[in-house]
Amino acid sequence: MNMNAGKIAVFVCLSLVALNGSAQPDPHWLAHDRARPAPPAVTPPTASTPEQAGKAPSDAVVLFDGSDLSNWVAMDGSPTKWVVRDGYMECVKGSGYIRTIQNFGDCQLHVEWMAPLPVEGNGQGRGNSGVFLGLDRYEVQVLDSYNNQTYADGSAGSVYGQYPPLVNASRPPGQWQTHDIIYTAPRFDADGKLLSPARMTVHHNGVLIQHNVELTGPTGWLERAPYRPHPEKQPISLQDHGNPVRFRNIWVRELTPGRKELTLANQVLDRYTGRYENNIEILREGSQLIARFYNVRFVLFAETPNRFFAKTTDVQVEFPATTAEKAERLTWSVGEGANEAKRVR
Ligand code: MG
Repeated sequence: MNMNAGKIAVFVCLSLVALNGSAQPDPHWLAHDRARPAPPAVTPPTASTPEQAGKAPSDAVVLFDGSDLSNWVAMDGSPTKWVVRDGYMECVKGSGYIRTIQNFGDCQLHVEWMAPLPVEGNGQGRGNSGVFLGLDRYEVQVLDSYNNQTYADGSAGSVYGQYPPLVNASRPPGQWQTHDIIYTAPRFDADGKLLSPARMTVHHNGVLIQHNVELTGPTGWLERAPYRPHPEKQPISLQDHGNPVRFRNIWVRELTPGRKELTLANQVLDRYTGRYENNIEILREGSQLIARFYNVRFVLFAETPNRFFAKTTDVQVEFPATTAEKAERLTWSVGEGANEAKRVR
């Protein structure tokens, strides 16, 4: 092996290690380096009791504290019909999945859930819901698996259709249970080629049931579909499988630093699409806004409902806060300047 090939091999290895989040001492620091910053202090969570949900750790993003669904919407971004009462939310049959407004990549996610009493249904029809990472792609199963026969890779805590839980740590229906999930998002290169797969570690009621498993692609019924490229950060969602499963005390800790990102409703994004002065064009592709400046294409990520940024270049685009059908202008900034451009009719 020549020198360059060796360097490239080392670089690739280090990059993959970084992507997988595997333990590898940072070579920039000596052992016991006195200059190394102390870890940030975090107030740990308080444990939940059957009657009372605990408190999230101090550095978590609280997604549901029992009071309201302000961090959640239906999958299309409209208000959800799931209900909140007595400190929990409950799935309403036929109302569809719900998702977070905020996007998350690598994370630690804590979810408490309860399968319904009285028991109704059998197998996959009993207390079925799910916690999805990567929007609706990667499911950790929620199911009443207490004295309930079903296929192993569909039981509570399974990575659905791929990995059965190592053990069945289920509590009876009507009792609160926990899923603690460590998620590593898959990575794709600019051409959409898979660089590293999604990984999950899961504790069910404090018992390790998934140990850093490597997902084969999206989870699903009937088939193991291949990966399709998607942005690293995506909403977290909860499944409507027709059963009145309850949830409480949901929090998440982001493991990869980055700017806050939201997934906005297409209706909101469509207010901004069109042509603007200075050869600026704004388009929508799926739930992503695209900007064309001087024929350079930027994928835009929402930081607020009307402010967007790119990840390849330090560009920011802001629209006036509006509920009008179409925004009349935008402000784009790159380098020193901020420039306004009016919509072109
Ligand atoms: Mg499910």
